[in-house]
Amino acid sequence: MNNLNLRPKYLVLTLTLVSLMLTTNVNSQSDEGVLKSIYSTSLTNGKSYDWLDHLSNEIGGRLSGSKNAELAVQYTKVELEKLGLDKVWLQPVMVPKWERGDKEMAYFEVSGVTSEVNICALGGSIATAKDGISANVIEVQNFEDLAALGTDKIKGKIVFYNRPMQADLISTFNAYGGCVDQRYAGAMEAGKYGAIGVIVRSMNLREDDYPHTGSMSYGDLSVDQRIPSAAISTNDANLLSDSLKQNENLQFYFKQSCQQFEDVQSYNVIGEITGSEFPNEYIIVGGHLDSWDLGDGAHDDGAGVVQSMDVLRLLKESGIKPKRSIRVVLFMNEENGLRGATEYARVAKEKNENHIFALESDSGGFTPRGFSFAANDTNFNQVLGWKALFKPYLIHYFEKGGSGADVGPLKSETNVLAGLRPDSQRYFDHHHASNDTFEHVNKRELELGAATMTALVFLFDKYGVKPVPNSTKIKD
Ligand SMILES: [Zn+2]
Repeated sequence: MNNLNLRPKYLVLTLTLVSLMLTTNVNSQSDEGVLKSIYSTSLTNGKSYDWLDHLSNEIGGRLSGSKNAELAVQYTKVELEKLGLDKVWLQPVMVPKWERGDKEMAYFEVSGVTSEVNICALGGSIATAKDGISANVIEVQNFEDLAALGTDKIKGKIVFYNRPMQADLISTFNAYGGCVDQRYAGAMEAGKYGAIGVIVRSMNLREDDYPHTGSMSYGDLSVDQRIPSAAISTNDANLLSDSLKQNENLQFYFKQSCQQFEDVQSYNVIGEITGSEFPNEYIIVGGHLDSWDLGDGAHDDGAGVVQSMDVLRLLKESGIKPKRSIRVVLFMNEENGLRGATEYARVAKEKNENHIFALESDSGGFTPRGFSFAANDTNFNQVLGWKALFKPYLIHYFEKGGSGADVGPLKSETNVLAGLRPDSQRYFDHHHASNDTFEHVNKRELELGAATMTALVFLFDKYGVKPVPNSTKIKD
């Protein structure tokens, strides 16, 4: 043996020791220390805001099947590849394709005075006749009103759904949930009574001039029973309602040229850090890559997409080597079909992948308050045990409840699903409207959300989910 032969051995030994010290350093850090490092990194060296800038300003609205949706798939795949993950891939899925066509137009006339109003076609609606349609309007609050009025009073008219979101609910998502049937099923229900069109008050608590789109369905109505439906801004809904009180015979005109096409090929975008100890236990974090077409989809759900991407990056930056496989999943087609989520869950089941925890961010990029969990009592109690760790970051909302549309199909009796819950007071000012744009997302709020998600993913990776005693009943 000579010195020359010894040197490589010393080098290997030294490198091994350094690597051991680094690993030990992260592993020996307290949970408090790891969370501090995650939040600091997100706030001082986060990538979420830059990614959102590109998605919003360079690409824009990303409706399923559109060119922009395809650009978003390619962009996020390339960005995930830059992170040095173990795997990045595209999961094929066929998606619906609907196009808005020309800008919609609407006005009504009362005693010779014409008022133009702001409307937009609802996603999935058919067009009006080429020159538009004109008819008397009948205002209702709900489907019971339709039944009470009956075909006699509805036939040949435009039904105007004007039930506002309930302002005294603190969760604006609950207020939305209390109204959204008008948008989703309004045309289906009014069509049964012979209405020729539907106008729906926008799902917005604020009074302003933006019409808010969103998905609607004709259920199993035949093609000739389908009628066009549009949303009207809250200001114009109030104006129309007031004008109807003056003259119930006013004529309302609207025109839209939207169209449904054949399904097209698209993709979920997936990146993975493979687990070092339990590679077949999966933890996923995700948002949806598609958005409505009116704005650039910054809050819904560009924010959730970039936060989810940053979760994997922040884990790496913080020196965390996950024991379980951590995936970011950017779901396609949440808004008008949920095809991406359905396909992801189908493939996961086919491959027998054990998804122990799935976290979704699809409630806007606002200040995070906590999470809502779909979990059994055993696992929910474990989560409550972590609550104190989040106190320094003003994260306090840990409640049982829904998780998210995209992770929902992964629910099993033993796993945990969760949704990030940011402050929701301003979300519906922007939701599905042309003002859902990048400048309305605050950088720090977005980064705090990414850190909050990363912290929870870290804890689930470190501690796993608890086996469920046979006697425990699932309570979601
Ligand atoms: Zn969304």
